[in-house]
Amino acid sequence: GATMAKSKFEYVRDFEADDTCLAHCWVVVRLDGRNFHRFAEKHNFAKPNDSRALHLMTKCAQTVMEELEDIVIAYGQSDEYSFVFKRKTNWFKRRASKFMTHVASQFASSYVFYWRNYFEDQPLLYPPGFDGRVVVYPSNQTLKDYLSWRQADCHINNLYNTVFWALIQQSGLTPVEAQGRLQVDEVMTKEIKLPTEMEGKKMSVTRTRTKPVPFHCDIIGDAFWKEHPEILD
Ligand code: ATP
Ligand code: ATP
Ligand code: MG
Ligand code: MG
Ligand code: MG
Ligand code: MG
Repeated sequence: GATMAKSKFEYVRDFEADDTCLAHCWVVVRLDGRNFHRFAEKHNFAKPNDSRALHLMTKCAQTVMEELEDIVIAYGQSDEYSFVFKRKTNWFKRRASKFMTHVASQFASSYVFYWRNYFEDQPLLYPPGFDGRVVVYPSNQTLKDYLSWRQADCHINNLYNTVFWALIQQSGLTPVEAQGRLQVDEVMTKEIKLPTEMEGKKMSVTRTRTKPVPFHCDIIGDAFWKEHPEILD
């Protein structure tokens, strides 16, 4: 309320960026699975289209639409889903980060929560992630063109993938041979990646990464920052 006490630290809120979506525009959030080429391989997705995976994606989209406010339509294909918020929505004062993060986290948790209902005998081997972006469209035409663009992408990729996997599964070509046969233009080959074990020689890369650990301590005082100067380096 108006009389709520404020700490001297309150000013840091002013560093938050204003990410209000332009009034009266369609707000679209698109999610895309992180490294699903690998995820599909590890979880034995049928090629080119695993229907369990597609139905699970749609179940997650339904959950998002039920749990969140003002979504009027969702469109999905492959490992992506787009959610359209109504033009006049005032949910979270139209803050882009709120839309995007609520959609992404609700979708990701649903994906894990409902996994077993769709992949009965295929265990979930690691937690999947999804990236998100927000785009605002100023007119009905641009929104419709946006959705058309995603569906055209779906068709182009499916045309390619259907023939690509038929050449492998039915005609016995190697993935490299199949890719060679289908090299007609850049647009069609862009999204295609070969399964990792079928790729050419790869450089071995050694990565070091700090292991995150839980730490319960005071961070208001200076001590923590003096003990861990590397965090702010
Ligand atoms: P990024 O993290 O950049 O999105 P990605 O590996 O997820 O990388 P995408 O361009 O998003 O790349 O492609 C998703 C990939 O996931 C497809 O190319 C396909 O290999 C796989 N995939 C997604 N859904 C299915 C499905 N239903 N059936 C089979 N494969 C699928
Ligand atoms: P909003 O969606 O606006 O964030 P909220 O209900 O999550 O609504 P917060 O201000 O984020 O509101 O407060 C989180 C609330 O969750 C706390 O007020 C408390 O009731 C509950 N909560 C969170 N963590 C714990 C915990 N470890 N133990 C008990 N209660 C908790
Ligand atoms: Mg992507
Ligand atoms: Mg992806
Ligand atoms: Mg994708
Ligand atoms: Mg909360």
